[in-house]
Amino acid sequence: MEHLVRSCYKQGGYVFAKKAEAIAQEYGVARIARLASNENPSPPSRLAVTAAERALPGSNRYPDERVDVLTQALNNCYGRGHFLTGVGMDGIIETLIRTLVEPGETVAIATPTFSFYGLAAMAQGANITTVPRDGKDFSINPQHLVQAGKTAKIVVLCSPNNPTGNATPVDGVREVLEGIGGVLFLDNAYVEFADYDYLPLMKKYNNLVIGRTFSKIHSLAGLRIGFAFAPAWLVPYFQRAGTPFAVNTVSAAAAAGALNDPDHPRWYIAQVKRWRTRFVDEVKYPILPSDANFVMVDVSPYTGDQMVEHLARRGVIVRSCRSFGGLPDHYIRVSIGEDWENELFIQAINNI
Ligand code: PMP
Repeated sequence: MEHLVRSCYKQGGYVFAKKAEAIAQEYGVARIARLASNENPSPPSRLAVTAAERALPGSNRYPDERVDVLTQALNNCYGRGHFLTGVGMDGIIETLIRTLVEPGETVAIATPTFSFYGLAAMAQGANITTVPRDGKDFSINPQHLVQAGKTAKIVVLCSPNNPTGNATPVDGVREVLEGIGGVLFLDNAYVEFADYDYLPLMKKYNNLVIGRTFSKIHSLAGLRIGFAFAPAWLVPYFQRAGTPFAVNTVSAAAAAGALNDPDHPRWYIAQVKRWRTRFVDEVKYPILPSDANFVMVDVSPYTGDQMVEHLARRGVIVRSCRSFGGLPDHYIRVSIGEDWENELFIQAINNI
């Protein structure tokens, strides 16, 4: 019956990190450093956990379709604005594309980058234009995005970018917003680790959507919740296009709880900034400058896959960058974890 499956799903798909338990078993390593998925190694805020616990007994009812508890917390935290909520930022990306893009219309994506934009666009039957980041530092030329964006419904720019780690200056983003005909989706999954503030752009441009996630800085990856700053005109259409009740009661409560705890993110932000410098100083392979909670490492003469294998034998899981289209095959991406994980990584890679 496989002939019934759409041709775009016959192969490919999202690349998941290998499970720590599987690596531990395969290589007989007791303790695994999990540095492949850019997660926050610290547990969620107590306020998030308590709010989730309080919400759980009400799970016999469907969630609030407007996700008021979270929207109110977002208004308190960021000032009055218009917000989209979703099942992770992934859910927002998927619904945004569904809201705006007819089959055959164009989505322009600055690459190499996070793969899900392309997968979600493909699912919608979009025509995908990739706009390569050029130069040794993987910066994007705003004018190249503007050119591609003249005919695109959505232009996607990730800043700081996964997997290269670099951020696009605010002026570059402004240049894109001024030049394109459609919407710019600015993915800010890692913005808390950078020193850029893109939010003032929301006031001026009604073609900007800024995606955020609770998976990284707020330690809630397992609850799958994200949000976006959006122009007012988009909100009702996004809601119409979304899967009914996608955001569940417990995740919404936890996310609102997390926003009430400004202290929780501090430890990890400091940890990231400290270890980015230590990685650059102490790892014998070249590390690209990063504004995110991970770094990309040039591991040539090894390929990314070979290095992933070597490190796994030593109990460290990192991500090979092979599956990021448009990138040479000699990079790995390494998340910043707890001290012992980062130390184990440095020690392991320096012996290879
Ligand atoms: N955008 C980027 C750049 C990411 O790296 C990720 C997750 N790795 C996401 C979005 C998805 O975030 P979420 O967990 O909120 O779906």
